[in-house]
Amino acid sequence: MRKPIIAGNWKMNNNIEESLKLVHGIKSITLNKDVEAVLCVPYTDLKEVKTAIEGTEIKLAAQNMHWEESGAYTGEISPLMLQELGVDYVLIGHSERRQYYNETDETVNNKVISALAHNILPIVCVGETLEERESNKEKDIVKAQVTKALKDVEGASIEKIVIAYEPIWAIGTGKTATSDQANEIIGYIRQIIGEIYGEAEKQVIRIQYGGSVKPDNVTELMGKSDIDGALVGGASLKAEDFTKLINF
Ligand code: PEP
Repeated sequence: MRKPIIAGNWKMNNNIEESLKLVHGIKSITLNKDVEAVLCVPYTDLKEVKTAIEGTEIKLAAQNMHWEESGAYTGEISPLMLQELGVDYVLIGHSERRQYYNETDETVNNKVISALAHNILPIVCVGETLEERESNKEKDIVKAQVTKALKDVEGASIEKIVIAYEPIWAIGTGKTATSDQANEIIGYIRQIIGEIYGEAEKQVIRIQYGGSVKPDNVTELMGKSDIDGALVGGASLKAEDFTKLINF
């Protein structure tokens, strides 16, 4: 049985004070314990948010990391640094990083392998552009991204990985993929995992949908057979909305 996972990606929002206010708001509402709640916060908020969620079931995530443990990589954050802060998850290959910061399938793969080696659970983002969908290439794109992201990853690690299928045309646009469109691609990703690793891994891997998930569409999305959760941007910035997603 796959535990649903709802992750809020705050992106480059919330200073420390705003973060603590948001966490306080989230903690003031009883959360469904059968759903894993994850906060993907800016680096500068990690320490305070970690303290603020202590004693709750809420998990902490960073939004990116370098794959090396240390070195001459000005401006980067290493897995050891995240480990030290007690980070549980890390987002890898978010489309904004692929688009603006030259993240490639190869760097995504390096980061996945490094995160696993440091016991930080990767949430690996994949998804096609509008142009790719309009030319019916979404399955090819997603297959290539998933296969390259998981190169040299052993089957035993698959249960530690979350994949987030985020069609780029649905991120921050208010355009959600229909629940059938999302379920179709997520089912396809599950099939790919089955082909690479086998039936057990196919059944165990958790795959989220991301792209304008909101309180009024989350129930339908989560009702689909292959959708195990959501990666949420905009709606994770308000405690009332985010908690509605957790309690879908
Ligand atoms: C995201 O940032 O991954 C995302 C899906 O954003 P939004 O929910 O705002 O579309």
